[in-house]
Amino acid sequence: MISIEEARRIILSHSQRLGAEEVPILHSLGRIAAEDTFAPWDIPAADHSAMDGYAFAHADAAAGNLTICGFLPAGETRTEPVLTGCAVKIMTGAPLPPGCDTVVPQEDVEESDGVIRFTGTVKKGDHVRCRGEDVTAGERVISTGACLRPQELGMLSSLGKTAVAVFRRVRVAVLSTGDELIQPGSMPVPGKIINSNSFSIAAQVLEAGGEPVMLGIARDDREITRTKILEGMQADVLITTGGVSVGDRDFVREALQELGGEILFWKVAMKPGKPVAFAMVRGKPVFALPGNPVAAMVAFEQFVRPSLLKMMGHSRIFRPIVRGTLVEAAANRGNRPHLVRCAVELVEGCYVVSVTGNQSSARLSSLTSCNGLLKLPPDSLLDAGAEVDVQLLDRHFEMGEGPSEADR
Ligand code: AMP
Ligand code: MG
Repeated sequence: MISIEEARRIILSHSQRLGAEEVPILHSLGRIAAEDTFAPWDIPAADHSAMDGYAFAHADAAAGNLTICGFLPAGETRTEPVLTGCAVKIMTGAPLPPGCDTVVPQEDVEESDGVIRFTGTVKKGDHVRCRGEDVTAGERVISTGACLRPQELGMLSSLGKTAVAVFRRVRVAVLSTGDELIQPGSMPVPGKIINSNSFSIAAQVLEAGGEPVMLGIARDDREITRTKILEGMQADVLITTGGVSVGDRDFVREALQELGGEILFWKVAMKPGKPVAFAMVRGKPVFALPGNPVAAMVAFEQFVRPSLLKMMGHSRIFRPIVRGTLVEAAANRGNRPHLVRCAVELVEGCYVVSVTGNQSSARLSSLTSCNGLLKLPPDSLLDAGAEVDVQLLDRHFEMGEGPSEADR
């Protein structure tokens, strides 16, 4: 049995970044840039007015009075120079006319009979957005490896781009195994249980930014398992759940070997999630996760998610870890690290951590109330009030989503 860290190291050393594809800007949200983007021009392209007001040459302003000699709305330009002693009424975003270097906002002047007088002091260059002050032509604005957020999409658009090269989304085949499984939509009959893993795992793939390919259920049969696994090899990655223990009807490992796969490990010292195998089959990673719903999801978090993120070009592939205070005692009497499902809450700026009840690996409700995992070392006992490190699983929480409408 190997440690979680060793298993992750093996997995990541077999997770290769995928190729790139060009996508329309709006489809690039959350994707990773596969190319550097250089600015083809200055932004702004010229000196622009930052206010609705009057543009003039500061050297002329000593007299204090300027005659209005024109109007320049946003979207238009003026090539005609502005005569000494004159000012042009200008709207925000319009380029300064030749000879002008300063803008006075309209609320800072008094106007009568086509002449303006400043009501305060005006410094040279006031209220002008200078050419290139945002971006200079030739500058690298977005680097390969950057995660494209709304602000990057705005920047790419302002550079005239309508498409951008990003690393491909990983296609992940999801296969559940088990004779006891029926699909959601049917009534559970004695001896059968509903296949939930396909959906929780596919959702984890989606949440990581991948594309799940639903392979359904493989019966506990050697031949069928092998055929389904082979079908999964058309994707970039295959995830199976169940059938990977030592039971008489657990055929996943055998099938992987029969297909010429190299099994790099098949047991990890962790609870839940010990029966987890990782193999390379025909050059593609295969994750054989446990059947128990909680174990499958926890194992996905530890092993699959970082791998998928790496394949899609991300550099930050691990969940954030925060330090919080445990509100109750927690013990691990076993000989494997226990990943305890926790609810983490931010109370007056501090993280408060509570355990989500019975930690059976079949109890999916221990995950529905959970947003974090606390790793308890073997043979350990933590008292209430202990400081603990918790891996945050909830994306909204991790990104610091604020109070609800009702809290305000
Ligand atoms: P296995 O590892 O195949 O022995 O599966 C262990 C247990 O996990 C089974 O007895 C089921 O209760 C449960 N299980 C396996 N596959 C699924 C699935 N796709 N959805 C929900 N529960 C499952
Ligand atoms: Mg099974």
